[in-house]
Amino acid sequence: MSRLKIAAGNWKMNKTFEDAMQLSRAIANASRDESVLTILGVPSIYLKMIVDQVLYVEGLEVAAQNCHSQPSGAYTGEISAPMLASIGVKYVILGHSERRADFAESNSELAEKVDIALENDLIPIFCCGESLQIRKSGKHLEYVTDQLKDSLFHLTEQQFSKLILAYEPIWAIGTGETATPEQAQEMHAHLRNAISLQYSQEIAAQVPILYGGSVKPSNAVEIFSQQDVDGGLVGGASLKSDDFTRIINSF
Ligand code: PEP
Repeated sequence: MSRLKIAAGNWKMNKTFEDAMQLSRAIANASRDESVLTILGVPSIYLKMIVDQVLYVEGLEVAAQNCHSQPSGAYTGEISAPMLASIGVKYVILGHSERRADFAESNSELAEKVDIALENDLIPIFCCGESLQIRKSGKHLEYVTDQLKDSLFHLTEQQFSKLILAYEPIWAIGTGETATPEQAQEMHAHLRNAISLQYSQEIAAQVPILYGGSVKPSNAVEIFSQQDVDGGLVGGASLKSDDFTRIINSF
């Protein structure tokens, strides 16, 4: 079964307004494979402007980097899923390791965020991944499977089929150290198997699983060529239009 190829950028807390608009414009105008779904994970303050800017650009979408678990209320500084949907955002990154670590986001809180995102027709890009310590203990496969179990496996098959997953080993994020293509493939195949056991082979074969962790133009081809790797969630290298375009064109 052929799955969607996806290149998602996570700009994190980078770029001033003019630089952000310039970067999204450069990616929109770049010579890029339009069959690859390209998603820009931009800071929330620029979401509406960039959604409008890329509205009619083939194969280019915009993601928020987070949303709150509640639809509205007294949560100063937060952004809700209905707010994102109301400005035309279609994707939301959930469970990034930086949010898990810096904002203590738990698997159960993430389950609520996934629910509210889906209720508002947002597609979650759900991040999972282990620390170096867990990898060294040899328990990484179970650990990441548990993240899926705790945050996602309550979903119906129909809901689950909407998701995008991103396996991001924490030890490879922003460190320059990349998982080997074999390490990525091993985890992706393991997760697909867990999904197959929980849901069905059909769903497991259909859900896109991205790899994230120091993806660069120099390693994207090799990583993306793995059977169960459907693309990348890219941090640092998504901040330069040339690098990101080369990654998009790496399938
Ligand atoms: C990320 O932030 O999700 C990420 C993978 O970052 P980097 O590509 O910089 O390692």
